[in-house]
Amino acid sequence: AKLDGRGTYRFFESEMDARMQARRKLELDMRQALARREFQLHYQPQLQLESGKLIGCEALIRWRHPDRGLVSPLDFIPLAEEIGLIVPIGEWVIRQACRDAMTWPSHMSVAVNVSPAQFKSDRLVETIISALATSGLPARRLEVEITEGVLLQENEKTLQTLHRLRELGVRVSMDDFGTGYSSLSYLRSFPFDKIKIDRSFVKDLATKPDGEAIIRAIAGLGKSLGMTTVAEGVETAEQMQRIRLEGCTDVQGYLISRPVPTEDLLEVFATYLKA
Ligand code: C2E
Ligand code: CA
Ligand code: CA
Ligand code: CA
Repeated sequence: AKLDGRGTYRFFESEMDARMQARRKLELDMRQALARREFQLHYQPQLQLESGKLIGCEALIRWRHPDRGLVSPLDFIPLAEEIGLIVPIGEWVIRQACRDAMTWPSHMSVAVNVSPAQFKSDRLVETIISALATSGLPARRLEVEITEGVLLQENEKTLQTLHRLRELGVRVSMDDFGTGYSSLSYLRSFPFDKIKIDRSFVKDLATKPDGEAIIRAIAGLGKSLGMTTVAEGVETAEQMQRIRLEGCTDVQGYLISRPVPTEDLLEVFATYLKA
């Protein structure tokens, strides 16, 4: 036989090579993307159910790659996280988001996603202080979204950082709530301002008989802990109606608006002012 063990081995080896090369290329491109201004922020508004008003937007990064086109954050944030590039990228996100939010109505806040490596870097708090000072954005209009990954190796320093943010007046949200192993125990370690209920639970509303029960429980939990609860990924009017009934305070999702560049936000804001 021609294709002996060694041939197969070589095949895998070259495939691995190709994958390593693709990763290297992505890494190189990403290192240049900041300087080349290829990153962009899109914003997705959040609606407060009781008032029917938009109260803030989440900043979501986009990468306009010269050859690949629009690259999803899911395809480069993990690598950026792994190689530490998330720190300068995340710093850019915070500064840009604060600048953009200054052009919005003054009751609107902006939420930024902060990943574990960025959260652990010593620069986070200084970066935020500096971004607020440079842009002139009041601290209460800035929100930091963290996932369980940040609290996974919870230690004194993590809690200290959370408390420093709180002292500045910056709000802190628990993102993707319910998807990890110990979401509940994390709620005990820090008094978050907001719980973001993961999109998977909103999806379950239509498909699982107990879908409502979970949302109702989280909304109730948030209420007793004095935290607002945002349902993520709301796509239909029916979902929004259910979510309102179960007691969530806010919604975010394609039903309200897709993430859009800051230039297009004013139009979205106007729609809700009229409504
Ligand atoms: P996330 O923080 O959970 O953000 C919500 C994601 O759900 C966004 O995907 C958003 O576009 C999408 N989404 C919003 N509404 C709907 C809906 O109604 N239906 C559906 N199907 N999807 C909806 P996106 O923008 O692709 O971001 C994916 C993830 O990448 C984010 O998940 C976040 O973990 C990460 N990410 C995005 N921007 C940043 C950033 O600036 N820094 C960091 N560290 N991570 C970021
Ligand atoms: Ca988020
Ligand atoms: Ca989320
Ligand atoms: Ca998510």
